Parts: sequence; structure tokens; C-alpha cells
Amino acid sequence: MTRVWNFAAGPAALPAEVLQQAAEEMLDWRGAGVGVMEMSHRSKEFVSIAEQAEADLRELMAIPANYRVLFMQGGAIAENAIIPMNLMGEEKRADYVVTGSWSVKSQKEARKYGEVNIAATSEASGYTTVPPMSEWKLSARPSYLFTCTNETIGGVEYPFEPDLARIGRAEVPVVADVSSHILSRPFDVTKYGLLFGGAQKNIGPAGLTIVIVRDDLLGRAAPFCPTAFDYRTVADNGSMYNTPPTYAIYIAGLVFQWLKRKGGVAGIEAQNIAKAELLYGFLDDCPFYENRIDPACRSRMNVPFFLKDESLNDRFLAGAKDAGLVQLKGHKSVGGMRASIYNAMPLEGVQALVDYMRDFALRHG
Ligand SMILES: *Cc1c(COP(=O)(O)O)cnc(C)c1O
Repeated sequence: MTRVWNFAAGPAALPAEVLQQAAEEMLDWRGAGVGVMEMSHRSKEFVSIAEQAEADLRELMAIPANYRVLFMQGGAIAENAIIPMNLMGEEKRADYVVTGSWSVKSQKEARKYGEVNIAATSEASGYTTVPPMSEWKLSARPSYLFTCTNETIGGVEYPFEPDLARIGRAEVPVVADVSSHILSRPFDVTKYGLLFGGAQKNIGPAGLTIVIVRDDLLGRAAPFCPTAFDYRTVADNGSMYNTPPTYAIYIAGLVFQWLKRKGGVAGIEAQNIAKAELLYGFLDDCPFYENRIDPACRSRMNVPFFLKDESLNDRFLAGAKDAGLVQLKGHKSVGGMRASIYNAMPLEGVQALVDYMRDFALRHG
């Protein structure tokens, strides 16, 4: 068996030790005589798995007691509809900060359910930066303000937490799509009304969506909101109103345990900073490559870059694959290359990428 360095944006690499443990438990979970995929979601075994996963996530993110953790399905794209259905309320108006492909998509979907005000956009820069909060223009009474705090495709990450108290609008709940950087750095959950993300970037398998929502935002769903997507219903039923994605929750739980062994969010953040410094430092030093993002807003998780001579792209990718470095092709809307270096990517993998890139530049520069 050979495992390569997988730089996929999502579904993405998982820690080998998590996969190893899952393999060992595949046919018989800790003496249950069945594997996790075969368990009733209401069995005491699975309920204990889900409860442990939630407790570990709460501990890792220091989630206060007045927030509910929901294990849902549909991914972040479904949440783009589920959020307005739940939160737009009587006002039927929400504010969006647009910083790249994902928030463009989110505000477009929200328009099906009410009025959308673009509070700020970095479109003029080609979505290479994050507009500072001092420039955000909130509407009079938005039901919430939406942000995507790490734009996975563009490689743009907020260098600050969107804390509306700082602009005198603490009453507006902040919603954040954190799909691609949840658990990569600390979040002050109390600054948000709702945090959400698909699991397949930085947590576990596709199919699980994590929603962290403040208590007072439950029970506001529009009458047409599907029952299974009404946050109140999901919360009241411990995420088991319908059958949750049981196996994905189990793997997420193993990843949370792995993260705790790694020193929690603080431990993994230190590793993520070292990885990002290594890769961006190299990109800045080597004129053969370039990254076009505002240095203050560079994502620690998704690093897009270009070869100065783009006619070498195919050769770069083929050579990378031969060197055991895969999924480096940039998103089709951006072009070039992208290395996603989530929590599960060790420094060693980023070092292997930099070594290859240096060698390629020497041979073709
Ligand atoms: C991947 C991603 C999505 C889309 O997630 P799906 O699971 O495909 O719905 C949305 N937002 C961000 C920030 C993402 O990284």
C-alpha cells in the first residue's frame, strides 16, 4: 500500500491513524458484533458515539451551553437555503459579505427567500481580499449577516473575526460558512449566531454538515421550511428527527479525538501556521511561481498559485503525480494550481511539495 500526499480541496485527506482505527473497527465496533454502518441510529452504541463526538467538538471549540450542535445533511450548499428559511423571519431581509465564489453562491440562493443586501464585496479586487469591517454597510434591520470566512476556491481567509459589536451592530447575528477552516484555528463562538460547514474539508467524510447555532435563533423557521431542515426540530430531536449520516458522524468523532491528541485547536493551529509560512514563504521567494492574494488575507488552508509560465502547467502536474503529490490542479474558475493543506496534512507533506516545486523551478526556470 502507498499513500500519496493528497492536496484535494474536498473531500480531502484524513489522518491515516483515523482511517486505520476505522478499518480495525469496521466489522465489529468494540464488541458490538456489528460495524458502525450497520447500527441503528437509536441504539445505545450509536447514541454514545454521537454524544461523544458532540462533547469533543464542544470541548475543542469551547462552544458555550447556549449553542446547539446539529448534525445535518445536504452540505454547505443546502445550508445556503436552509439558513434563510430558518432565519430570515418576518423581516425577510439579510445582509451578505461577498468575498468569493462561495459567498456569491450563498447570496444568490438567499434571494429565493427574501431581500438580500450586499453589505460589502471584494469583487473589484477580483475577490483577492476581505473588505474591512469599517467598510461594511449593513441594512437597517437585517435578520442576519452572512460571511464566508474562508473562501476555499479563491484562497482568501478573514484575518479577523466578524465581530459586529465593533461597528455597533451587536444585535445582528453573524452567520459564517466555515466549511474549509473549521477547527484549523480558534473561533470565538460567542461572536456568531450560527457557524456551519460541510465535514469533507477539515473534519471527515462528505455527507455530514455541522451547524452550531445559538439557542435564540431556533424556532424562527418559515412555514414552508421542510421539517427535517427546521433547526428547532433538529435540535429538539438531538439531530435524529431523520436518520443522520451515522458513519460520517463516527469518523468525525475519531477525527475530534485525533485532534485532542494533537493538542486541540491550539496545537493544530501552530502546525497550520508553520505549514502556511513554509509554502507562502517559498512562493514569495521563488520568482517562478506567484500567489495573487492580498498577503493579509491569504488562507492557511487553501493556497492557490500560478506558474509564471503557464505553458508548463501540465508538465508540473504530471511531475507532481510521479512524485506522489496529487490533486494540485486549481479550481476551473481560477486556473493555475491550488494546494489545500487542511489539518490532516502534516508539515512533512508541505515540505515534500516545496521540495518538488523548487526542483521543478530549477529544471525549467
Ligand atoms: C466546499 C464548500 C462548500 C460546498 O459544500 P457542499 O458540501 O458541496 O455543499 C460551501 N462553502 C464552502 C466555503 C466550501 O468550502
